[in-house]
Amino acid sequence: MHAPQWPQLRDLVLIGGGHAHALLLRKWGMSPQAGTRVTVINPSPVAPYTGMLPGHIAGHYTRSDMMIDLVRLGRFAGARVVMGRATGLDRTAQQVILQDGRRLRYDVASLDIGIASNLPELAGFDDHAVAAKPLGGYAERWDSFVASAPAQPRLVIIGAGVGGTELAMASAHRLQSHGLQPHITLLERSDTVLPHIGSGARAALMAQLKHYNINVMTGTEPASVSPTTVTLTNGQTLASDFTLSVAGAQPQAWLQSTGLDLHQGFVTITPSLQSSDPLVFAVGDCAHMAYAPRPKAGVFAVRQAPILFQNLRAVLSAAPLRHYHPQRDYLKLISTGRKRAVADKLGLRLEGAWLWQWKDRIDRTFMAKFTDYPAMPTPALPIDAVQGMAEALGEKPLCGGCGAKVAGATLGTALQHLPPPKRPDVLSGPGDDAGILRHGKGVQVLTTDHLRAFTNDAALMARITAIHALGDIWAMGAAPQSALSQITLPRLAAALQAEMLDEILSAATDVFGAAGADILGGHTSIGAELTIGFSITGLADHPIRKSGAQENDAIILTKPIGTGTILAAEMATAQMSGQMPDLMLGEVVTTCMASMLHPLATASKILSPHATAMTDVTGFGLAGHLLEMLDGAGLSATLALNDIPTLPGAQTLAALGHASSIAPANRALCLGRINAPNTPHAALLFDPQTAGGLLATVPQAQAQTILKTLIAAGEPAAIIGTVHAGPVMLRVNGT
Ligand SMILES: Cc1cc2nc3c(=O)[nH]c(=O)nc-3n(C[C@H](O)[C@H](O)[C@H](O)COP(=O)(O)OP(=O)(O)OC[C@H]3O[C@@H](n4cnc5c(N)ncnc54)[C@H](O)[C@@H]3O)c2cc1C
Repeated sequence: MHAPQWPQLRDLVLIGGGHAHALLLRKWGMSPQAGTRVTVINPSPVAPYTGMLPGHIAGHYTRSDMMIDLVRLGRFAGARVVMGRATGLDRTAQQVILQDGRRLRYDVASLDIGIASNLPELAGFDDHAVAAKPLGGYAERWDSFVASAPAQPRLVIIGAGVGGTELAMASAHRLQSHGLQPHITLLERSDTVLPHIGSGARAALMAQLKHYNINVMTGTEPASVSPTTVTLTNGQTLASDFTLSVAGAQPQAWLQSTGLDLHQGFVTITPSLQSSDPLVFAVGDCAHMAYAPRPKAGVFAVRQAPILFQNLRAVLSAAPLRHYHPQRDYLKLISTGRKRAVADKLGLRLEGAWLWQWKDRIDRTFMAKFTDYPAMPTPALPIDAVQGMAEALGEKPLCGGCGAKVAGATLGTALQHLPPPKRPDVLSGPGDDAGILRHGKGVQVLTTDHLRAFTNDAALMARITAIHALGDIWAMGAAPQSALSQITLPRLAAALQAEMLDEILSAATDVFGAAGADILGGHTSIGAELTIGFSITGLADHPIRKSGAQENDAIILTKPIGTGTILAAEMATAQMSGQMPDLMLGEVVTTCMASMLHPLATASKILSPHATAMTDVTGFGLAGHLLEMLDGAGLSATLALNDIPTLPGAQTLAALGHASSIAPANRALCLGRINAPNTPHAALLFDPQTAGGLLATVPQAQAQTILKTLIAAGEPAAIIGTVHAGPVMLRVNGT
């Protein structure tokens, strides 16, 4: 995380992770504006780059080749990435309204949300057809269609502009290269295909369409779509296993309610890229350049980016604005399925493999901007810094979810000096998940936990912290009762501070409310960075201790492991270069966050009546916490490594050498008491978990029934091993 050196005073909100915003964020990362908090809102952690879509459909590019990882980009830019869909602007309150009801304040906002190419008016379209835009959904539907396509797949593609033609040839090439014989029909409402390109390029593309045997029908349009047909307005019916629209350019309907000046639903903008409201900018396909109208094309979004970058900063710093003058025309390189392309330039007929290679180079150069981030200079150490400073700082940034924790050995030594409890109503000393106090006929359990923010989204951070802190209560088999918050806010302008505090408290209220606890108050202060903590009480008849495991018990884990490794990789994202093999870090992080957000209430309820011992897996990692349980019981255990669930991407990241900064200390804590293979999967046994799962020992005879109950309740649980006679030792079988 870029710890803000300057107080954050103004809010810039980028709505949509389109091409212009992606480029702007990259520039921002290299040159942030002091005092501005940047937020980017996008429904998904990745945004597709259209230039490579036909190549992906044709099978030349993997999905990750054409996806911009917005989480990595946001980290590089020091921006808050909010996963969500904007559905409105409250321009009076200066707030963006999200689909889930969340409101985000802005001083300046910018729209880059693209268009949709669906045909909502066409009967059956929504249920039985696919729109090329938004691209993400199309790419996924296509991949699964290709995997199960019949021997002679029938496709109908609606819209014979450049995009439709390119996708028709890409589809033909892909299906043919799978040994299939596709029948593709390209439908065009007007009397000519490719009306907006020169005669030479058109002739070359028509020849390529013929090469693929693609049936081109002009002067006709669809009247309805069924799962297996497209019926035309002239009554003709075409068989279709996959119906795609590249025809519409639909603006998003909610723009109508913004009160901004629109042209056919697109936001009208001036040369400074401002809408009719000077605090709201718009770029890319969702904008209409009333002063110089142009067709919808990514090239304009790309060229608008540097002007947008300058002008947004200018508005925030009261500097003069610049104008964007779009070029009249641009070179179109249109791929033709195979690794060949046609160029549209001056009416000439230019085609060949070399043009595809040229286009490939341009596209890969564009995408490299979002895989290889420039290393930003770190401040040099003062020449008279004390010895050992470089080692103390380490090579990696301190990661909040893991590096913020103190190593187990350090903690253990300090706790040894604590005197045992003297009061008769205090039933436990340090060592268990929560303190235990006598309370009526049962007990009250008491715990505290706090986390340094590992995401710039304070609401998300508050939810995760609340669930993390509640883990100790659930691990005792107790019912959460009350919570106090301890919040350290970074330095912010009053309005931003009020919003952040409100977001944290309402997110926490949600989580504690669902857990059955009340928030009673807390303490808030200002500090170097956002830190959120909660002290929580819970009530139980009989608390479940860590130490009660019995010989032959089965060991159950209720969540996959790997959060520390994933968070560490995400923090180090600016230092990484290149695409990761087969994974998009943003998607891995999003899945990891979703796992952390999963409360343990249900798992605790199911396990509590049977568990002989229980804890939640947090800072010491699965191995460290299991050894704590074994220490308490004087027993040993075997784990079946292959049965231990890991978060998607965690093993790949571990294999690439990513690990939390506290993993070595966790490993050291287990030294001499664990026998485990040296594999990436086994490395995750030492991975500190944030909001990790419950680790419980249960009688072997009941284990399968308990597991079935957990799984039926939606808990991602697994039986991972067995408890044996002592001495304390952990044997890990598998690879
Ligand atoms: C097959 C095909 C090939 C093409 N090839 C080219 C080409 O070679 N050259 C060229 O110049 N143009 C090309 N285009 C056109 C190009 O795709 C678009 O002009 C370009 O993608 C526009 O970029 P954008 O920044 O406006 O938005 P987009 O790239 O469409 O991105 C919009 C982003 O906003 C997000 N979003 C959407 N709604 C919301 C919301 N409500 N709230 C928050 N976020 C939201 C989306 O998830 C997405 O990430 C092609 C189009 C197609 C269909």
